[in-house]
Amino acid sequence: MSHIGSAEVAELIAAVARRVGEGRERLNRLDAKLGDGDHGTSISAAFALAVEQIAVLDQPEPAEIWLATAKALMNGMGGASGALFGTLFLKGVAPARGKGALTKLDVEAMWRAGLDGVKARGKAGVGDKTMVDALQPAVDAFAASDDFSGAWPAAAEAARAGAEASAAMIARQGRAKFLGERSIGHQDAGATTIALMFEAVQMWWETRE
Ligand code: ADP
Ligand code: MG
Repeated sequence: MSHIGSAEVAELIAAVARRVGEGRERLNRLDAKLGDGDHGTSISAAFALAVEQIAVLDQPEPAEIWLATAKALMNGMGGASGALFGTLFLKGVAPARGKGALTKLDVEAMWRAGLDGVKARGKAGVGDKTMVDALQPAVDAFAASDDFSGAWPAAAEAARAGAEASAAMIARQGRAKFLGERSIGHQDAGATTIALMFEAVQMWWETRE
């Protein structure tokens, strides 16, 4: 498959919502080590809201599905991380606008714009122990592959490795930064969510091929 249309984009978000929902307690436990323990509950509720809001759209384009997801993450999560996860999708809307189906290069541009938006808004770079530690390598790996069939598994593997690598880092952003060196040894919750997201998309893609 060289293009994905609205039906596929909606399936993709639904697959992410399921996987993040399954990870809810694990994500809460990770956030409890480094923050306030709410990440799994809030991100899974927000993705569930996204699925509901996508379902009521009337013949949406992919960009409108991405926009509904952004709004649900911003409204359904609140706080700083809601704005950051919302930004990841909100910035991806423009590259998709007016397109009924998306190529691998379109999706790459959407992820890249989202990553740049998250970094501009949150001021975190690779190594700061945030979602960026999974997202940046995932987007780079996605970009380095020629087609969806190569890009989805490469992104999923890179996100997983990035999330795991966050365990050894000292937090420099978010609530965890107040722990300083005591943040070492715990994997970042937001990075783990990014890994679950790309894992979900890869698994969804495999069932479609
Ligand atoms: P909160 O910290 O408001 O309780 P969550 O628990 O939902 O929000 O999300 C925490 C996650 O947000 C962290 O694990 C981290 O990945 C991400 N995060 C926090 N601050 C930043 C930042 N400045 N840039 C990127 N991601 C961040
Ligand atoms: Mg939290």
